Amino acid sequence: MAERTRIVLKSGKDQSLRRFHPWVFSGAIKKIHGPEREGSLVDVYDNKEEFLATGHYQKGSIAVRLLSFDQVETDQSFWDDKIANAWKLRKKLGLVESPDTQVFRWVNAEGDGLPGLIVDYYAGTAVVQMHSIGMHHQLEAIVNALKKSAGDRLHTIYNKSESTLPDKPGISEKSGFLLGKKDTGEAQENGFRFLVNWKSGQKTGFFIDQRENRKLVGEYSRDRKVLNMFGYTGGFSIYAMGGGAKLVHSVDSSGKAIDLTRKNAELNFPGDERHKAFAVDAFSYFNEMEESYDLMILDPPAFAKHQNVLNNALQGYKRLNQRAFEHIAPGGIVFTFSCSQAVSRDNFRRSVFVAAANARRKVRILHQLSQPPDHPVSIYHPEGEYLKGLVLEVE
Ligand code: SAH
Repeated sequence: MAERTRIVLKSGKDQSLRRFHPWVFSGAIKKIHGPEREGSLVDVYDNKEEFLATGHYQKGSIAVRLLSFDQVETDQSFWDDKIANAWKLRKKLGLVESPDTQVFRWVNAEGDGLPGLIVDYYAGTAVVQMHSIGMHHQLEAIVNALKKSAGDRLHTIYNKSESTLPDKPGISEKSGFLLGKKDTGEAQENGFRFLVNWKSGQKTGFFIDQRENRKLVGEYSRDRKVLNMFGYTGGFSIYAMGGGAKLVHSVDSSGKAIDLTRKNAELNFPGDERHKAFAVDAFSYFNEMEESYDLMILDPPAFAKHQNVLNNALQGYKRLNQRAFEHIAPGGIVFTFSCSQAVSRDNFRRSVFVAAANARRKVRILHQLSQPPDHPVSIYHPEGEYLKGLVLEVE
C-alpha cells in the first residue's frame, strides 16, 4: 500500500483536534509531506510530529475532514462498522421498527463521525448525498455497508451528489441509481402519507429534520386558520389538517412543490376543502393576502450559506418575521425557523426580537426548537446544530 501523505500543523493549531473537532482548515497547515491527492486518506500530525488524526484530504478551506483520531485503515470493515453504528442509533430511537414512520436520516455527517456523508432513508430507499471527494471515492464500500446494515428492507439506493460535490476534475457520475431504479415513492411520517421524489425533489426529496416540529404544529392547530409559508411539499400543512385546523393555506414559490403539496393533501384528506395551495413568492403573498391567520409557519430556505453574507441573512429574517407579526391575528401563534448554519441561535433570536419590536406586538416565547435526534450533533462540532426554531405567542 502506498505511503500516506503526512500533514503537519502549525504550532498551536493542534488544539481543536485535541478537542476532537473534525476539520482541519487549510490555514492551520504548516507542511504537506507526500502527494496532495484529492480525496485521499491522510495522517495529521502536530508540529512535534505527534500523530493526531486520519481523514480525507481535499483542496479548499476545509482541507481535511477527519474520520478517526486513531491511525486506522479505511477498509470495508471500517465502513461496515460506521454505517452499522448509525443504523443502531436509529433503531434505538425507535425509527427503524416504527409502525407509522418510515422516513429518517440514517447518516448525519459529522454527527455520525462521517464528515461529508449524508444518507436519508425513505421506506426502503436510501438516498446518498456526498459533500467530499473522499466520500465519493468510497462510494462502493459505503453502498456495501448500507446493504449489510439494512438487509432485505433496502430495495433502492440513489446517489444524489450532483449539487453537493465540488466541481473537480476526475469526478465521474455524481448521481445515479446504485440499487433498483425507483425514482419516487410514498413514505409515512407519524402516520401521515407523503409522496417523495428523491430524484427531482429538493435536498434528498423531503425535509426530514422538521418531523418533531411538524407534530407540535399539529398540536397547536385545532380550530386555527393556518398559513404554511415556504411549505415545500406541505409537511406542516398535513399535520395542521390532522390537528383539526379550520383552514390551511400552503405557500411556496416552486410550482413543482405546490403540485406535490396538493397531491399530499389529497392522499391524506381526500376531497377536504380546508386546504388551498399557492405557488407565489412569500413577500408578494404577504402584500396581497386577504385572510386573517392565527397560526403561521415560516420555514424559509437557508438565507446565509456562508459567514460573509450573515448580515444580509439577519436582515432577511427580520423582514420576514416582521411581516408575520404585522399580519397575525391577536392571540396568534408563529412557528419561525432558520436552517442557516452560519446564523447562531442568539443571532436568529435577535432578528426576531427586532421584528417584534418594529411591528409593536407583544410576543412571548413558548418553545425553542431544534433538529430531531436522527440529526445528532457531535458535542465537539457545534456547527452541526443548524436548525433553530421559536414558537411564539403574539398578543
Ligand atoms: N417547510 C418545508 C421545507 C421548506 S424548504 C417542509 O417542512 O418540508 C424552503 C422552501 O422555500 C422551498 O420549498 C423553496 O421552494 C421555498 N422558497 C424559496 N424562496 C421562496 C420565496 N421567496 N417565496 C416562497 N417560497 C420560497
